[in-house]
Amino acid sequence: MTIIREAEILCVGTELLLGDIINTNAAHLARRLAELGIGVHHQSVVGDHPGRLREALSLALSRADLVITSGGLGPTYDDLTRETVAEAFGLPLEKDEAILAHIRDHFARTGRVMTPNNERQAMVPRGATVLDNPQGTAPGLIVTDEANNKTVILLPGPPRELIPMFDELAMPYLKARTDRVLFSLNVHIFGMGESTVETILRDQMIEGKNPTIAPYCTAGEVRLRVTAQAEDEKTARDMCRQTVGHIMESEVGAYVYAVVPSTEGEATLEGVVIHELCRLGKTVACAESCTGGLIAKRLTDIPGSSAAVLGGFVTYTNEMKMRHLGVSPETLEQYTELSEQTATEMARGARVATGADIGISTTGLAGPGGGSEDCPVGTVFVGISSSQGEQVKRLSLSPNRKRDYIRTVAASHALEMIRRLLLSET
Ligand code: ATP
Repeated sequence: MTIIREAEILCVGTELLLGDIINTNAAHLARRLAELGIGVHHQSVVGDHPGRLREALSLALSRADLVITSGGLGPTYDDLTRETVAEAFGLPLEKDEAILAHIRDHFARTGRVMTPNNERQAMVPRGATVLDNPQGTAPGLIVTDEANNKTVILLPGPPRELIPMFDELAMPYLKARTDRVLFSLNVHIFGMGESTVETILRDQMIEGKNPTIAPYCTAGEVRLRVTAQAEDEKTARDMCRQTVGHIMESEVGAYVYAVVPSTEGEATLEGVVIHELCRLGKTVACAESCTGGLIAKRLTDIPGSSAAVLGGFVTYTNEMKMRHLGVSPETLEQYTELSEQTATEMARGARVATGADIGISTTGLAGPGGGSEDCPVGTVFVGISSSQGEQVKRLSLSPNRKRDYIRTVAASHALEMIRRLLLSET
């Protein structure tokens, strides 16, 4: 049996080229191939055009052992994938009676009339393996040239057909033809920018290293995906752990808030905070101005948060800050609402009003208007109050950033302050 090491994804459809639909199939296939330890160095998209499809397929086959196509298996004249692959392998197309019966049955069940062009979907390149499609009419196909170690897996375009077909039928086929395993750990970082992380870890981020370290950036956060390739999962896992150990020993380590296997998804600051609050039996309450309830929203997104989140106040006006949080009129008069003093009194007020162990607050300018020289847009004060004392952090986020970004990053800083406080208590 041939071993598959490198694959290429070829998505067919003019609507993909026009940007009418997003290529979610490629993303799904790429993730799955990574899990299988099959490398993907190229993905391409080609319209429903015979010449260009032939060209793209031939290029993909020249570079990879396996080409996975998505789309172009339908009944209409512009669905050309089946014919093009058969031609590339020099195989005749033969009518498969079992597929034809399935298509007839599908039309009968859905109460539609079967037009003659649907019979095209029952044509199979000689010797191909048929992948059943319970969700639709076009079956998938596996066409192999064992002598030259070239395989094409043809999948239908609709994701609700492609995903189960690939996961349930193509994955076991490919698993039997791989000799390597990939394992990844996601390292979540908050408080250090991507360029600083890259500068510190540059030596370990060189292309071709095993494990590889790939950085991804989201609002204010950096995620490193550490991926090792080995003959078995245990070896790959140990290699990843060793690399993560080096990261933790570097300056980056102090900013890492979670390390999770990619098979378990991604961590979030709010998830970590709720987990820690529950573990320590502590509670929190929020007093939010510029984040408008975002901290409370993010915390309560986490299942089980009711054991740790007592509640929150969205106090946008000074009047509300005084009435519900007990911020003193003198503080507002002397320092304004955009001040360390107000943030502290807000956090303290939330804690006292609810009886929570921790009060967390935000007050600042999310923009786009309203900034001054002393207090430009992007200035946010985050306050925290607990039995250990009170603390305020002044953030100076870029005024060029969108309102949404400023609010999200401010909420993340608030969550990080809670996390660090809990860390200091253990
Ligand atoms: P059908 O029998 O439905 O025509 P097909 O295999 O010919 O199946 P296409 O006609 O290429 O598939 O695509 C059908 C639909 O599937 C598209 O209109 C689109 O909604 C979805 N689709 C196709 N390709 C992709 C893709 N790469 N990512 C996400 N959705 C896709």
